[in-house]
Amino acid sequence: MSSGIVTVSYIGATILFILALGGLSHQETSRRGNLYGIIGMAIAVLATILSDVVTSYFIIVIAMAIGGTIGYILAKKVEMTQMPELVAILHSLVGMAAVFVGYANFMDPTAAFSGIEKTIHEVEIYVGVLIGAVTFSGSVIAFGKLSAKISGKPVLLPARNWLNLGLLILTILLGKWFLAGAEEGGGTFPLVLMTLLALAFGVHMVMAIGGADMPVVVSMLNSYSGWAASATGFMLSNDLLIVTGALVGSSGAILSYIMCRAMNRKFLAVIAGGFGTDSASSGGGPAMQVSGEVTAVDAEEAAELLSSAKEVMIIPGYGMAVAQAQHTVNEITKTLRSKGTHVRFGIHPVAGRMPGHMNVLLAEAKVPYDIVFEMDEVNEDFPDVDVSVVVGANDIVNPSALEDPNSPIAGMPVLECWKGATTIVLKRSMASGYAGVDNPLFVKENTRMLFGDAKDSLEAVLKVLQS
Ligand code: NDP
Repeated sequence: MSSGIVTVSYIGATILFILALGGLSHQETSRRGNLYGIIGMAIAVLATILSDVVTSYFIIVIAMAIGGTIGYILAKKVEMTQMPELVAILHSLVGMAAVFVGYANFMDPTAAFSGIEKTIHEVEIYVGVLIGAVTFSGSVIAFGKLSAKISGKPVLLPARNWLNLGLLILTILLGKWFLAGAEEGGGTFPLVLMTLLALAFGVHMVMAIGGADMPVVVSMLNSYSGWAASATGFMLSNDLLIVTGALVGSSGAILSYIMCRAMNRKFLAVIAGGFGTDSASSGGGPAMQVSGEVTAVDAEEAAELLSSAKEVMIIPGYGMAVAQAQHTVNEITKTLRSKGTHVRFGIHPVAGRMPGHMNVLLAEAKVPYDIVFEMDEVNEDFPDVDVSVVVGANDIVNPSALEDPNSPIAGMPVLECWKGATTIVLKRSMASGYAGVDNPLFVKENTRMLFGDAKDSLEAVLKVLQS
């Protein structure tokens, strides 16, 4: 295929990727956005395979068959609740690819650069391997934390910020060494040493971030994976990869910013880590003890409360995803609305385990978009709400974020459902949520606990409502 056709195909794919991002920003257009992305990727892969850079179709076909089969099996097998872990491990592959491409470029005997071009190429290799290695090890640890294979609690080494600063300075010095060494045909030792340091930095950075700060880490690694892809594009002189990587990198960075703002956290404070420990809380003292009496109800009582309510707010959380209760939630919503009840959904920006997690589940269950609201849009309305139904949520409705300056989640905005007349909380036990913080909502006078799997409980409530 001529290089002109390849360039035109790449421009077409880039436009489709931009349209895909635009489409994915609204629920109504997200399917179309996905379709644009799929077509764009198909064009990009075909144009690359048919271009002059590919010399052996045999290897490409074998690699695609292996990759495609693994991807197909994974996509078929993965549960919705495992999606965040899958995304994290996929990010790690992007990082690993950048490291491999960097080393392959470095060792390529046919590379014929000289002068300033050679220096630029070496900087590309160094930066590409650096970002790739941090992305790889950081994503592997994020995978471990999201799948609960590694504890969610932050692991804090003494003088960790100095350690990070030391690593940064060492990386810059090694970079100088690498460039000087590469000029003389060496440079392998500083490159390998930097790779090891970058891998250690990725582990250290994500291990230090804990509890409710993990959403920022997920979006940050998403951004890193984009920059790693972009760096790979520079090394391979592939414009499409550069642009696509930059799109992913910048949208991930914007998402990280949105997440930080949603959680009232400063980006640098998140990276410095320590969230989720008592010492990191704003007050510095021990968190308040939660004590009081729990009022448990059964499905019948919960249904009665809902039947007599005029204003209902449903607050879904991670437990709804675990129980796969979204379809039953939709059935209850339909039943209540048919009786004239005003039902709305309040979505916290970090509900669940990945950005937009709850919106995806509600869209899957065909809950109408126009009754699904963001936290800021409904938080002031709670005094007028008769019944809030908290479906498997915990951290996102924890009043101690606002009431206890010593709480590890102090300052994080939450859905203030306790300001309504009654709150029904559906969960299986009194266990804490992802951030590991006790929740005083469960012992408030106007809270009713409906214990059990959210889907089973809601099905029982639905039965009573329909009878
Ligand atoms: P939480 O993890 O705080 O709470 C979920 C609750 O659901 C648990 O307390 C659990 O209680 C309950 N639950 C679990 N399974 C079931 C079930 N089958 N039926 C009923 N209840 C169930 O989730 P939230 O959504 O409230 O908050 C999200 C948390 O995750 C925040 O801390 C956020 O920072 C973090 N996070 C978010 C990410 C994102 O991008 N959105 C990414 C990474 C972390 P019990 O065991 O008693 O049933």
